[in-house]
Amino acid sequence: MDCVFCKIINKEIPSLIVYEDAKVLCIIPKDMEVYGHTLILPKKHFNDIFDIHNADLQDIMRIAKKLSIGFRTKLGATGVNILHASGKDAGQSVQHFHLHLFPRFKDDNINAWPQLPKKNFNKEEVLHGITFMDGI
Ligand SMILES: [Zn+2]
Repeated sequence: MDCVFCKIINKEIPSLIVYEDAKVLCIIPKDMEVYGHTLILPKKHFNDIFDIHNADLQDIMRIAKKLSIGFRTKLGATGVNILHASGKDAGQSVQHFHLHLFPRFKDDNINAWPQLPKKNFNKEEVLHGITFMDGI
């Protein structure tokens, strides 16, 4: 498998490691777009949200919370954004599940929340298509 994140996890490619344990590796990405921008990777290869095992996702989210608290105490961050893409149409660039964690600071002028044009969808019709009230 030719996965750049697996190569980083296996130390075939050097990286700047923020945190590592038996299941998770957190690194500074090649292109750091925000001060403290960190990638959180499961050490096992999963393509995306559709195939990651629940236990591995829990590990990832547990570390996302720990790093968020760490950014607050070590960097003085006042908030975080957690960004994720699953699938090419969602903008996923590396096919190995990962989260982007952005520490946020007062007046940092980063717009990590896209401004989407308002559209008048029929909400009842949409709800009919996506309701899971009868179970998932
Ligand atoms: Zn991989």
